[in-house]
Amino acid sequence: KIVILDGYTENPGDLSWEGFENLGEVTVYDRTPVEKIVERIGDADAVIVNKTPITKETIAACKNMKYVGVLATGYNVVDVAAAKEAGIAVTNIPTYGTSAVSQYVFALLLEICHHVGAHSDSVFAGEWASNQDWTYWKYPLMELAGKTMGIMGFGRIGQATARIAQAFGMKVIAYDSYKIPELESDTCRYADLDTLFGESDVISLHVPLFKETEGIINKANIAKMKDGVIIINTSRGPLIVEEDLREALESGKVFAAGSDVVATEPIKNDNPLLKAKNMIITPHIAWAPKESRKRLMDIAVDNLEKFVAG
Ligand code: NAD
Repeated sequence: KIVILDGYTENPGDLSWEGFENLGEVTVYDRTPVEKIVERIGDADAVIVNKTPITKETIAACKNMKYVGVLATGYNVVDVAAAKEAGIAVTNIPTYGTSAVSQYVFALLLEICHHVGAHSDSVFAGEWASNQDWTYWKYPLMELAGKTMGIMGFGRIGQATARIAQAFGMKVIAYDSYKIPELESDTCRYADLDTLFGESDVISLHVPLFKETEGIINKANIAKMKDGVIIINTSRGPLIVEEDLREALESGKVFAAGSDVVATEPIKNDNPLLKAKNMIITPHIAWAPKESRKRLMDIAVDNLEKFVAG
């Protein structure tokens, strides 16, 4: 018995759960409220989640559960220690979104550099560059060539982001606790965090959320950055102390920021970033092009198949 608690990864109906159906009896729920988790898992053998938390209490209550497949790279929704203790296998999907998320870094960054949407809106509103109120003055453009991108977390997505940055003519400073010397070149070098903060024009976050990375973008570290730095976050919201970023955007210390994630998701009305200047926020969608969702589901089926095969 397989229960899928977050079926919305297939929401638009453009993909299917067929792969899981070949492995067992499948029940799919679109989204699962916390109070329904235990009831819906029931006596299922395998549980598939994306955002639904699998806590110690759920693990204790669902005695037949043998497998939790997380339909995501980050697996912080599962109490892995409790699962291990109960002999439950947990799998995640580390590779599916590398192209989608690195491409998305540039969707946010290029919006900051070019304001394509705002300039297009002005044309549809009857304005053109010859008018007095040419939107250029309101939304100036910025080149990336020759600038430096600091990449915090030089894993799969960080490296893919670096390749795109280099194609734009940017230099890359990489920070990671695990260094791969072959990745260094004329346009890419590792450095410590303070060097990255001090020399980067754009900082893109790709470290996972751990105790030591939580709140790493804070007042003290922002003070070490270049005036007018741009910050992009497609990793996890709690990496940033949101009130500190809001203040830095207000003062202009940080020129602009683009984030696909926030500290508490879905975003709360009182999130300070909703009041911030030059801030773009999108609803955790970097992972979601059809191509990467298909990869996600294919790998999820493959993971369960391997588990069933022992
Ligand atoms: P990855 O594991 O390939 O890379 C992470 C890198 O961070 C590794 O190289 C690791 O050595 C490094 N690292 C870990 N802890 C560190 C620390 N304390 N200091 C310095 N470096 C450290 O992961 P990835 O596939 O590149 O994914 C990166 C992040 O992107 C993940 O946290 C994931 O949750 C997030 N993500 C977001 C979306 C989205 O839709 N926005 C989609 C997929 C992944």
